[in-house]
Amino acid sequence: MLKIPYGRQEITEEDIQAVIKTLKSDYLTQGPVVAEFEKQFAKYVDAKYAVAVSNGTTALHIAALALGTKPGSRVITTPITFAATANSIVYCGGEPIFSDIDPDTLCLDINKVRTLLESKPAGTFDGIIPVSFAGYPVDMEAFRRLADEHGLWLIEDACHAPGASFIDSKGKKHFTGNGKFADLTIFSFHPVKHITSGEGGMVTTNDPELYEKLLMLRSHGITKDPQRLNENHGGWYYEMQEMGYNYRLSDISCALGLSQLSRGRKGIEKRRAIAVKYKNAFKNTSVKTIDVPFGIGHAYHLYVIQVEDRLGLYNYLKELGIFAQIHYVPVHTMPYYQQRGWQKGDMPKAEAYYEKCLSLPMFPTLTTREQNQIIKHVKNYFHEEVSNYSSEGWKQKNIA
Ligand SMILES: *Cc1c(COP(=O)(O)O)cnc(C)c1O
Repeated sequence: MLKIPYGRQEITEEDIQAVIKTLKSDYLTQGPVVAEFEKQFAKYVDAKYAVAVSNGTTALHIAALALGTKPGSRVITTPITFAATANSIVYCGGEPIFSDIDPDTLCLDINKVRTLLESKPAGTFDGIIPVSFAGYPVDMEAFRRLADEHGLWLIEDACHAPGASFIDSKGKKHFTGNGKFADLTIFSFHPVKHITSGEGGMVTTNDPELYEKLLMLRSHGITKDPQRLNENHGGWYYEMQEMGYNYRLSDISCALGLSQLSRGRKGIEKRRAIAVKYKNAFKNTSVKTIDVPFGIGHAYHLYVIQVEDRLGLYNYLKELGIFAQIHYVPVHTMPYYQQRGWQKGDMPKAEAYYEKCLSLPMFPTLTTREQNQIIKHVKNYFHEEVSNYSSEGWKQKNIA
């Protein structure tokens, strides 16, 4: 009997040894491995600074705080994301404002955001949080331009997209989270994401002031930096200068994250090969897949298909031991957000997508045999012809 989840972490012997080494060291937390993980992660996404935090949700929270989100702030985001994206604004006392998706990319539709911004007086909104959904790098160059036109800040929720890339209008390649467009980019290291530290998260930026703010917010608003202190009573002295939290990540977690990070690019190559095989297999069938234009370096956290009778297919695959998932129930339709005034029908594109979407298993250790089974069963369900398909030639395809 098959048992294939939609996502699965890979823990190697090197990962285990790295964690053991930290357990035997002097530091379980706030030690050198945190700094090393931050340094290597910043390098991985080509950013100047990275701040490790306890998870992706706390990364969103301190990112929103660092940019000044407060009671009354209105922040535009997508309904097709994990609830945490919107919740982080509520944590700050602000109001998430949902705007519909572009059905081609499944990310926030920039034209709808523009229309929304132009329909309200200047100063109505504070920021935008686009999500690089499934690993499709959202066009942050365009969002930066729009944000600047309206004086807004920009956080990219890149939990699905570490290692994704896109080509800008000048032909230059950018890694998601490189700090060139978003003020802050956030990532998660939950086991189902690309790289795991058990629980964990990261914020990247190129802005030294935001970087300092994030460090304070992560640890109770406390600083020991002699240059920032108001007074100095000696070597023990620190000051709590603002309200902050304990959102730190341990050295134990960072040791795992760091070891995983060294396989990051390889994992993405594997995911891209799996994606090309799915794409080829479902070509000319009733199973709809996303088109990835040239220049888009998709990170394929998820492989989403859209089908009629999604519930039937979901149950059929589950019976066979293939555990597909749904990403996501649109956040604005959650009972909590309905209490805040949102209704079904507010986001027609997101809601239409939700009726048909299904995430097929996608993770680097998915075997050829397993993927063949998945494809066969999906095709069987729709009485599509099952033929041979391979991942030959995937490197030539649409990968930046
Ligand atoms: C996973 C995820 C989060 C939250 O990350 P956690 O580490 O689980 O707190 C936020 N946004 C998106 C898009 C995610 O996929």
